[in-house]
Amino acid sequence: MSVVIVGGGFGALEVALALGAADRDIPLRVVATETSVLYRPWLIHLPAGKRKPPMIPSARLLARAGVEVTADRAASADLGRRVITLESGAELPYQQLVVATGAVSDRDRVPGSRAGALFPCDEADAAELATRIDQGATEVAIVFGWERPGPGLEYAAWIAAHRREVRVAAIDGDGTLERRAGLKATAWLRQLFESRGARLLEGRVESIGDGQVSLANGESVPAEVIAIATPLRGCTDWLPTELRGPNNRIAVDAAMAVAPGIFAIGDVVSAPDGYRLPPALRSIQGTSRGVAANVVRARRGELPLPVLKPGMPDMMGPDLAGTAMLVRDGRLVIRGRLPLLLRSLGERRYLRSRDATY
Ligand SMILES: Cc1cc2nc3c(=O)[nH]c(=O)nc-3n(C[C@H](O)[C@H](O)[C@H](O)COP(=O)(O)OP(=O)(O)OC[C@H]3O[C@@H](n4cnc5c(N)ncnc54)[C@H](O)[C@@H]3O)c2cc1C
Repeated sequence: MSVVIVGGGFGALEVALALGAADRDIPLRVVATETSVLYRPWLIHLPAGKRKPPMIPSARLLARAGVEVTADRAASADLGRRVITLESGAELPYQQLVVATGAVSDRDRVPGSRAGALFPCDEADAAELATRIDQGATEVAIVFGWERPGPGLEYAAWIAAHRREVRVAAIDGDGTLERRAGLKATAWLRQLFESRGARLLEGRVESIGDGQVSLANGESVPAEVIAIATPLRGCTDWLPTELRGPNNRIAVDAAMAVAPGIFAIGDVVSAPDGYRLPPALRSIQGTSRGVAANVVRARRGELPLPVLKPGMPDMMGPDLAGTAMLVRDGRLVIRGRLPLLLRSLGERRYLRSRDATY
């Protein structure tokens, strides 16, 4: 019986390629409707007037690795029988299951945001943000924070750097910037935004409505376009409720195991207490081989080995258009062009290794 990987993003692709490399004879099937993966970290360039992000030809890479793909989506899972039911109604038995269904913007976490804001971490909303700016919006509020403060800060910095006609307010949505980045990095960010004619506002967002972002300190920020990047919600509606934790994500143990016969990887995952997942793509690259090795072990009836290490630092390294900063456990390690260069080298190496088209 097969190993089944559900998902059409980086997590699914990387774990499938790692499994194929670990043991070419494992019957392996990916359930996904996507035939390519958009390199979402570069969505931040779109509203700044730059080109669309690169595409990774996942279907071709999987075919080359001998991985079967079922073009469908998982609708439900019967963990007792080890069977997934697909949206087409077909049933797919598995011996080991890897959940890599990611997370989407949680449009209901901030009151009023579903109706009053765009969520540019989702591709269609990133394009809509770009269109609204192209059509002449000049007051733009970008709210950042929650599980992933990087993209919102990046959007705000890129728009401020490249759309000089736009007045940007970058707003610390969950009020955690100073705690996460530390005083020094926060002060540097404030200065950077000011030098670009933008503002950094540190007040937790209470609600959004009538073209205003209302902050907990009583302040209201008016804006023609409001974007939130973004609270996240795991794509796990197809899994039994007992597997779903806060914000619909799945809790894994240090071996990235969820339950007997089930592993998970990527944005869908929440780390166990005392553990931290590094920035998303690095965590996928860093854990895919370990997850693959544990799937192989589980097929042989062996116990899985730890993939995550305890006590990993909280890292943050946003690309702020022409400059970047690297923060580790609330301390500014480095800022300027060097972290940007290192990041860019790593990204380009990864994109080349996955035959991405620009
Ligand atoms: C603007 C932006 C900037 C970012 N910047 C960075 C960065 O600088 N560094 C970094 O590390 N990360 C960054 N990220 C995060 C990174 O892109 C994600 O962490 C990564 O894409 C997660 O991969 P994934 O495979 O877990 O999930 P996804 O890429 O979301 O893929 C999940 C896939 O599963 C599919 N799926 C969902 N449900 C089902 C189902 N029931 N059946 C079948 N398929 C299903 C979805 O359609 C999707 O294709 C950024 C993200 C955004 C949006």
